[in-house]
Amino acid sequence: MSRYRLLPTPAQEAVLRDHCGHARYVWNLAVEQHAQWRPGRTSAPGYREQCRQLTEARAEYPWLAAGSQTVQQQALRDFTQAMAAFFDPKNPAGRPSWRKAGRAEGFRIVGRGRQWDVRRLSRHVGQVWVPKAGWVRFRWSRAAPPGAKSYRVTMDRAGRWHIAFAVIPAPVPAPGNGQAVGVDRGVAVSAALSTGQMLHAPGLTRRERTRLRRLQRKLACAKRGSNRRGRVRHTIARLRARETDRRKDWAEKTSTDLARRFDLIRVEDLQITNMTRSAKGTRGDPGRNVRQKTGLNRGILGSGWGQLVRRLEDKAPGRVEKIRPAFTSQRCSACGHVDAKSRESQARCVCTACGFALHADVNAARNIAAGHAVTARGGDGVARPMNREPQLLLQTA
Ligand SMILES: [Zn+2]
Repeated sequence: MSRYRLLPTPAQEAVLRDHCGHARYVWNLAVEQHAQWRPGRTSAPGYREQCRQLTEARAEYPWLAAGSQTVQQQALRDFTQAMAAFFDPKNPAGRPSWRKAGRAEGFRIVGRGRQWDVRRLSRHVGQVWVPKAGWVRFRWSRAAPPGAKSYRVTMDRAGRWHIAFAVIPAPVPAPGNGQAVGVDRGVAVSAALSTGQMLHAPGLTRRERTRLRRLQRKLACAKRGSNRRGRVRHTIARLRARETDRRKDWAEKTSTDLARRFDLIRVEDLQITNMTRSAKGTRGDPGRNVRQKTGLNRGILGSGWGQLVRRLEDKAPGRVEKIRPAFTSQRCSACGHVDAKSRESQARCVCTACGFALHADVNAARNIAAGHAVTARGGDGVARPMNREPQLLLQTA
């Protein structure tokens, strides 16, 4: 998704804010409708029925009618897609939830038809058509993607507006080398590859982190509702937004790189929300880096792991496999011996059976590459039969 900084005039910004409010309102109505549905009742209304209801609501409420019908209908369409993703058995997403004002604000627009509603004004400035707001300028920071059919306008926590054109990235062709790679998510290391390569998602620099801490202290002291507090909050939000941008960028580049280099990419099958909730793991399979994980709960979410996997699936469709992560950290990737004691330290793994030593995250990544998820009894629970087992690319240790 290519994102551009949108530069609305104050008058346009007011319109955009209204659109956000309407989209949120309509979305929340849909969430509520579906939340009240129980098995046995007639089915919750689908997109068509919801659109009919929207027309009725617009006839009744002038403030809603004053807004853009396109924006409101797209909110319903977004909701329908979110529900479909929620029910997708292959790749279930979270249930669409209630949207709060001021958080993840945005709306989507579809092009008006034949003419594509983006034009270039000068080398660095473009314009995009937004209903009721007219032509809104944006920073032409890179080539606008051809063939985008819809675009999404968002406001981040720092109050910056962006526009993103929805284009599913063209799949990256497989290299055809028959190689598989395992990717292990880590805390200290954002991602370890079975090749031994360590990938780090960038965050804030040391200086920025210090600044952030200082600002947070300032915020704690500032009086509620004061101008000073508003300014501090704004600065904090900008720092956070910078961090998010860097991670997004990292996920983009890393996913392209992996899709280019390997035929098959195996990752742990985990839902980030579950993992952050139970960093401790279970009794049989204690988690790794427990202290770091609970402490850096948000760090994991922020490490861009979820984004990376999503992008991988976009760019290497059919070439990403999810492996059940149980015991990948306690299994020796050389001899297959499973023993919790093999974990010598947080970073190092020394096999109690064969003495093989390796970075713990890389060892886990190699197990993932091999598709080995080990059952609690210690047997090899190879994930699933494969017609053609790709050759593993292993680090020459
Ligand atoms: Zn071993």
